[in-house]
Amino acid sequence: MKTDDYRVKPDLPLDLSKIPSEDNGGLEREEGEKHFRRLRKRLRELQELHYAERTRGMLIVLQGMDTSGKDSTIRTVFSGVGPAGVKVVNFKKPNSREIEHDYLWRVHPHAPRNGRTVLFNRSHYEDVLVVRVNNLVPKERWEKRYDHINDFERMLTEEGATIVKFFLHISKRYQKQRLQRRLDRPEKHWKFDPGDLPVREKWDEYQQAYQVALQRCSPGHAPWYIIPAERRWFRNLLVARVLVETFERLNMQFPKPTFDPRSVVIPD
Ligand code: AMP
Ligand code: MG
Repeated sequence: MKTDDYRVKPDLPLDLSKIPSEDNGGLEREEGEKHFRRLRKRLRELQELHYAERTRGMLIVLQGMDTSGKDSTIRTVFSGVGPAGVKVVNFKKPNSREIEHDYLWRVHPHAPRNGRTVLFNRSHYEDVLVVRVNNLVPKERWEKRYDHINDFERMLTEEGATIVKFFLHISKRYQKQRLQRRLDRPEKHWKFDPGDLPVREKWDEYQQAYQVALQRCSPGHAPWYIIPAERRWFRNLLVARVLVETFERLNMQFPKPTFDPRSVVIPD
């Protein structure tokens, strides 16, 4: 399995409807899960090194339709990663204050400081997804946002951040199963949001909006990966693998101590 096969290449055409959402990378579940546990351990080590090095931030963006598993990916892939170095930011409908500002105003303060890993559960991409599908601002405004987003992300990376983005890809049929499950199990009722149904009705428009955003905003320094998300073990494996590779490419080093450890004597 090569992670690069799942990266969105900005110069190639993209047709989301042709990308399988139940792919397993040619692996069996059992070996996939074993592999995942090793990667997760490695991810913990790398995140600690990144935290210790404290010279740059890591921004991870998660997007996907309702029930695509954004929360569960965060919970599973990051279980055991030191909570001090990691923050999850959930982007909901803008509140009355946020809506009075430009759409990046509420986003920028959450960009990671050096050494920190920040996970965006939804993100500034909603401003070219839900906003585009429902024309929450006129087309003349949202259509300029792809360029702003590219500029914003380029600025963050030129200032030292690393950015990696995941689209959790599911089918409409799979979403139906997952929504039904939330209705059938009393302990899942809290997850059911009747507001998800009108969104589901516009499935094709959302897929189209995702396709444009993924295609237009996937430069090499801030790539999108399309994660087939219906086999959850494979989703976790692929996300973890991309993250491990992304951290490894940074060639991180533990900072040199400012003292000579051999010369220090701890008093009794
Ligand atoms: P959830 O993540 O399912 O709890 O829901 C969050 C909701 O907030 C989703 O329906 C998003 O589409 C919506 N949302 C997030 N960002 C924006 C935005 N910038 N404008 C409008 N709606 C948004
Ligand atoms: Mg929802």
